[in-house]
Amino acid sequence: MITRRLFCGCLAGALPLAVTAARAQSVECAVFTPDRQKSISPDDAIARLKVGNERFTTGKSINCDLMAQVKETAGNQAPYAAIVGCIDSRVAPELVFDQRIGDVFCARVAGNIVNTDIIGSLEYSTKVVGARAIVVLGHNSCGAIKAAVDNVKLGNITALLKNFQPALATLSKADGHRDSHNYPLVQKVAEANAKLTAESLTKRSPILKQLVDAKQLKIAAAMHDIKTGKVSWLS
Ligand SMILES: [Zn+2]
Repeated sequence: MITRRLFCGCLAGALPLAVTAARAQSVECAVFTPDRQKSISPDDAIARLKVGNERFTTGKSINCDLMAQVKETAGNQAPYAAIVGCIDSRVAPELVFDQRIGDVFCARVAGNIVNTDIIGSLEYSTKVVGARAIVVLGHNSCGAIKAAVDNVKLGNITALLKNFQPALATLSKADGHRDSHNYPLVQKVAEANAKLTAESLTKRSPILKQLVDAKQLKIAAAMHDIKTGKVSWLS
């Protein structure tokens, strides 16, 4: 039997938690404005993504009123980060990092590679709109990486797979048989691809290089684990 005293005691203990949760929700559900975006450093931007992934993996993703956010961002957007991710259905960046409407730009293509169009999109995200970080997000068991490892030839996929040549070039005899069933080898290529893709951005874009040199932008590579939802950072 729950006494009045016990009930009140439990309620008193639960209230601060409820207030804290409500406060966290109101902060996280506030949309990014240009002023809020400017107040965030490149390191803060990466930290926000890390905290968001922590919420995601611990079942604490925040439910916001998305239609309210749609209305609040209709006139302008000021996302704080840009993510280059794979098209894989299991790695949606907004979900994995627990982000919502107007928070992050996302470019998605098989194997999270970049080309002129994607680099142009990243220049727009950062130089024009002001995002403070770019994350190249690879993942394990990536079909595009497996196809590249197996040297698949099929339609336009053949040309797409040429983008993985620099990552494949990191392999040596010690990595064993080049076959998509060799999980460590596939993982090594996926990690090399995310890292090399991130590193290539400042080489291929003077605009991104200038922002990084001026410490207005941080570029990082990370890997998403499709078995745990956890993102680990390579740089
Ligand atoms: Zn993939």
